[in-house]
Amino acid sequence: MSELKTDAFWMPFTPNRTYKVAPRIVERAEGIYLFEKSGRKIIDATAGLWCSNAGHCRREIAEAIHEQALKLDYSSIFNFGHELSFEYAERLVQYTPDGLNRVFFGNSGSEAVESALKIALQYQRARGKGTRTMFIGREKGYHGVNFGGISVGGIAPNYQTFGQPVKANHMRHTLDIARNAFSKGLPEHGIELAEDLERLVAFHGADQIAAVIVEPFAGAGGVVLPPKGYLQRLREICDKHDLLLIFDEVISGWGRTGSPFASQEFGVTPDMITSAKGITNATVPLGAVFVSDKIYNTVMDAAVEGAVEFYHGYTYSAHPVACAAGMATLDIYEREGLLTRAAGDIGKHWESALHSLADLDNVIDVRNYGLVGAIELRAPDNLKGRFGAKASALAWQAGVMARGIGDALCMSPPLIIEAHEIDDIVDKLRGVISGLE
Ligand code: PMP
Repeated sequence: MSELKTDAFWMPFTPNRTYKVAPRIVERAEGIYLFEKSGRKIIDATAGLWCSNAGHCRREIAEAIHEQALKLDYSSIFNFGHELSFEYAERLVQYTPDGLNRVFFGNSGSEAVESALKIALQYQRARGKGTRTMFIGREKGYHGVNFGGISVGGIAPNYQTFGQPVKANHMRHTLDIARNAFSKGLPEHGIELAEDLERLVAFHGADQIAAVIVEPFAGAGGVVLPPKGYLQRLREICDKHDLLLIFDEVISGWGRTGSPFASQEFGVTPDMITSAKGITNATVPLGAVFVSDKIYNTVMDAAVEGAVEFYHGYTYSAHPVACAAGMATLDIYEREGLLTRAAGDIGKHWESALHSLADLDNVIDVRNYGLVGAIELRAPDNLKGRFGAKASALAWQAGVMARGIGDALCMSPPLIIEAHEIDDIVDKLRGVISGLE
């Protein structure tokens, strides 16, 4: 076989020059495992990028994609339709919290976020509150890479490189290791951080703010769980000031917390939910915004009959192949009980297995919920903020795919994982972490 040429592909979110010196290539995947060309097997403890929830290469989804591509590979949904898009939307809203009964489709989490932000602006304008054009996000929040998403997100390198094209401000994040170290489930301390929203509303004025957007738990910011009562308090403050509340559930949706959506798990209903990733078990790109009837009806009622009510959409919105993949994914989730599995024994096992690493000297926090978790490491001064990447590289060598974020190793295994496989991850990580310096 000829040598792999790596020059042409400018890889995303990757140090290209370093990577290309010794490319790490995955050849195939099956269930919870990734395989290198050599045949070496790696446990995918991150379900890809928090997305292969039912495990990799599920035949049923592959066949649905294949059949759909042969039957109807594409249909414009601007003024046209294909039946599957309507059937799929009807089916999706069976899983969403009460009142969120409308679906707007895009192709990714980033597009779902942009669509939700635009829907918020359209809604405010439709009800005569057109001054409400800014957004409140949160530090450490990740909402994709488009200009709206990086503006509402709270990841510093985005600002430092691209500025803030959409007007937004940010609440403080809720990571508080000093008070909440080694919490199991939701942390006890930090509900008062929700009052930061009151501070920002007082500063900007409610009449300037269209919506508040947060991930129920921050994923790419390092698995930061909401303190008990925090999301409820955000909802109350939004209601008090008539602000929309958007939950970005691109990671937390589709069973990750033990309910279909974290909104249900944490008992707080937002006005919109963004979704992607696990929606198709990551097989083909698809994003969606679940929108409340209140928003949908307001936007519809304000438009002139016959006019386009929302001037937005993508060539591939509700792509037939993506809808087919999504339908087959839901079949698996239902049949295998995956949307609530993390709430049962496997989630408890995950919790106790991860926390068994608490005795290691260089572990300063373990946090978990459902089937997501992070191990925070004590970094040496010269590697602070980058120690997770080092740990992640060593974990890969040891046969575990775990993500390094800041000084933490973050994981979100496929929801099909079994207890002995969790034990295998934790055994391997024990070796990696205890040898780290
Ligand atoms: N929102 C959240 C919460 C995410 O975690 C991500 C991706 N990790 C996105 C949005 C963006 O999704 P995508 O990469 O599919 O555009």
